[in-house]
Amino acid sequence: MSLVVQKYGGSSVATAEKIKSVAARIKRTADAGSGVVVVVSAMGDTTDELIELAHAINPHPEAREMDVLLSTGETQASALMVMALHALGAEAISLSGGQAGMRTDRVHRSARILDIDPARLKAELERGRIIVVAGFQGLTEDLDVATIGRGGSDTTAVAFAAALGARCEIYTDVEGVYTADPRVVPDARKLKDISYEEMLELASKGAKVMAPRAVELGSVYNIGILVAHSTKDAPGTLIHGGVDMEGFNRVRGIAHDMDVAKITLRHVPDRPGIAAEIFEPLADANLSVDTIVQNVSENNTTDLTFTIAKNDVKRALPVVNEIAKTIGAKEVVADEKMGKVSIVGTGIQSAPGYAARMFRTLSEAGINIEIISTSEIRITCIVPENSVLDAVRALHAAFELEKVEL
Ligand code: ADP
Ligand code: ASP
Ligand code: MG
Repeated sequence: MSLVVQKYGGSSVATAEKIKSVAARIKRTADAGSGVVVVVSAMGDTTDELIELAHAINPHPEAREMDVLLSTGETQASALMVMALHALGAEAISLSGGQAGMRTDRVHRSARILDIDPARLKAELERGRIIVVAGFQGLTEDLDVATIGRGGSDTTAVAFAAALGARCEIYTDVEGVYTADPRVVPDARKLKDISYEEMLELASKGAKVMAPRAVELGSVYNIGILVAHSTKDAPGTLIHGGVDMEGFNRVRGIAHDMDVAKITLRHVPDRPGIAAEIFEPLADANLSVDTIVQNVSENNTTDLTFTIAKNDVKRALPVVNEIAKTIGAKEVVADEKMGKVSIVGTGIQSAPGYAARMFRTLSEAGINIEIISTSEIRITCIVPENSVLDAVRALHAAFELEKVEL
């Protein structure tokens, strides 16, 4: 029997009506003879609302309790989806991530998947049931519920597809992966397919249509991931490994991210080991650092700048101030009003001209570049938050992405 894992995101299950129409689609797939495992996200903005509620009660909620709370969003959606399927006369059962066999480590709120035991899923499929799994969560060795990081339902879906040897379909509120966020660039084009590498760069630089870890998992297990609209019957985008490299010297897409803050340590003494002294305590505090730049030193001191998520600034500052004191840095400056824009495409780094065109475009739009970072297939500029959207539109036009063929 063919087997498919279908994931429906928060916006696709935001209301009773939407749950009902998604249920109808799921039933059609099952009626056509496919085994179906559905992974659901929490309805609409439930996760954000639960986080807000928790902070209204305790400004520093424990991560374990947050996971107990946040996992209920997905649990609720899974039960409601099964009720909708029952109302249509389908055989279906909801399972929590743990019941579905997902085991994670104990790092609450950003747990890693250790293992999936698909026995229960297989037994339910044998019974001819549609299974609706609550995404974003698993169980630790101590049987505590742990969530696997924002956007984790995407990762859940790919992980189950890998464990079951099933196809993987991610259904969302846009028709696929576009050359840029279609809400920002109205003439952005939907891509027919995209490589894991390019999608991973776009996702980790802010294109939230796919969670980066889901793309990574897909690449490790070589699972093609179809991204498509949850109710429209339009062809989506296939993320896979076998992308035709013909004409590879091109920009494939533009990602942007408003969630960027910049922290600078001024006048850091320039001696061996200093970078480790700075970044070890940040890692120990589970703070994830993105771009890092160290300037050329002058008089044996240097400035060191890195970026983190805006939400992490409050937690990072005391740690950084402490480090600054220990290593004898003069000053710590934080700027929370930053953002970033990235161009991504296989081969852009080895072909001259892309970086120059990017910088020229931003300069002509009057946008100041604060930091530049690159990978082999990406160039990222950190720019002021209020110029990010202009930057995306200007770059989309400069690289003529509106002309991409479908
Ligand atoms: P879901 O609730 O289904 O998980 P998300 O909100 O996480 O959906 O992701 C879908 C959103 O991602 C779209 O509504 C779109 O605004 C945004 N997005 C950002 N970049 C892109 C892109 N390159 N292609 C498509 N969508 C994108
Ligand atoms: N509900 C979780 C979140 O908002 C997981 C997900 O939707 O993928 O991050
Ligand atoms: Mg998402």
